[in-house]
Order: sequence, then C-alpha cells, then structure tokens
Amino acid sequence: MKTYLSEIFSSVQGEGPYVGERHLFVRFCGCHRDCIFCDTNTDRTETVLIEMEPGSGNFEQVPNPLTVDQLVELIKQVDRKKNNRRISLTGGAPLLQAHYLRELLPRLCGEEYSIYLETAGDLPQQLKSIIEWVDVVAMDVKLASVTKEPATFPAHWQFLKTCRDFDVEVFVKLVLSAETHEGELMEVAKGIRKAGGENTLVVIQPMTKAEKTDAVPTGEQLLRWQDKVAGVLPNVRVIPQTHKMMEML
Ligand code: SF4
Repeated sequence: MKTYLSEIFSSVQGEGPYVGERHLFVRFCGCHRDCIFCDTNTDRTETVLIEMEPGSGNFEQVPNPLTVDQLVELIKQVDRKKNNRRISLTGGAPLLQAHYLRELLPRLCGEEYSIYLETAGDLPQQLKSIIEWVDVVAMDVKLASVTKEPATFPAHWQFLKTCRDFDVEVFVKLVLSAETHEGELMEVAKGIRKAGGENTLVVIQPMTKAEKTDAVPTGEQLLRWQDKVAGVLPNVRVIPQTHKMMEML
C-alpha cells in the first residue's frame, strides 16, 4: 500500500498541552475540509520533503507515493538520535488514509513509538479503525462562524465519544477568530461536555493572520470566551501556535 506525504521533519510540538515536546511530524497530503484559516498546502505533491537535520531548512526529496516500508525507514533515519517523544500524524487529514495507517501504526508501535494524531475530529469511523494504536488524539471542533464551512457537530460528538469509549487520551482544540459567534461557541462547549465529559481539556487557539482572512481575535475576546467556556468545561486554556512565534516548522 502507498500514500502521498508532503513533509517529514522533527521539531517542537507548537500547539496544545504538549507544547514544547519534541515530535517527529509526518504530514499527509489531502484534506476533505477547506477552513478559511488553513495555513497548509493540502494538495498532493510529487515528492516528500524530508528535513534530515532538524531545523536546518535543508530538505531531501523522495518521490511520492511512499510504501509503509519506505516511510518506516525514513522515520528511523530522521529519528536516528532517538530524541523524539512521539510521532505526530498530521496533515491535511491523516484519517483519510486510514487503510494505510492500519498497516503503518502496528509497525511504529512495534518500534515503541507513541502515536499522536492531529485531526479535524470529524471522521469517527476512520478513527475507530485505527484507535487501538493511538496514544493521544488532538481533535478540532470546527465552528462554522470561524471556518465559513457548514457545521459538522454530530460527527465531532461521535468522534469525541469514540475516544472516550476506547479510553484514549483526547483534548479538543477550538480555533477562534474575531468573527466567532458566542452562541455557537456555547453550543460547542455543551456538546463537548455531553460527548466527552465535564473534565475534557479544551484549548482555545486564537486564529493568526492567514491567506484568506485576518480576523484575529483580541485579548479581550479571548479572555471573555475563556470565562464563558469555563462555566461549562472548567479545564479550558488559551494556547497560541508557538512554533510560528519561533519561526519553526
Ligand atoms: S482541516 Fe486542517 S488541513 Fe484541512 S483545511 Fe482545515 S486547517 Fe487545513
């Protein structure tokens, strides 16, 4: 089996509660969504860019698509110093490649890697098919007032409930813009509580300037939203994308 990847590199995790940990990122091509704040080229690429020396900005290119054997070998090469805490599967949407992941993940778990899945959080069946090999799920709940796409809440709730049913660690990321509707935000908070429980960790991630929008929320907005969400879900933090501040991958 083969798949299309865009990048493989080692860097610090820039988002969420594991911020600052060293992760090895495997970025998959392709996404089923079109968020207005997307900062990633999700198109299929002819080659995979591989940064063998972390932070160097020098990339080797390997032709796409890659077999599972090829990817495992490249991961071992990038992690030759064994200094990455986890393998971060990111995209695009890695769950669109669930069949490939079903072949890849047992191999990585056999190498004793911890698997961290970054996902839009709306493909519950695909998640279920690979969840036995996943250690941490970083899932989004997408607000229509922010993404400018139709809401997909039932899929998000089913996704979160699947993590709970399988007792897999999960946190929810909410990317919020200046255009966030507070009513929608509170509907989301209640949905998270119902599907994931009151103690579900929620990370509010302020949107940064993107190609299609510059509706960056103010500090006053973020603090007000944190207070409101905390009334429903006490474990809510505001964490920006820190890797961008450091101009790192
Ligand atoms: S789900 Fe992620 S990769 Fe896909 S369009 Fe939205 S931000 Fe971009």
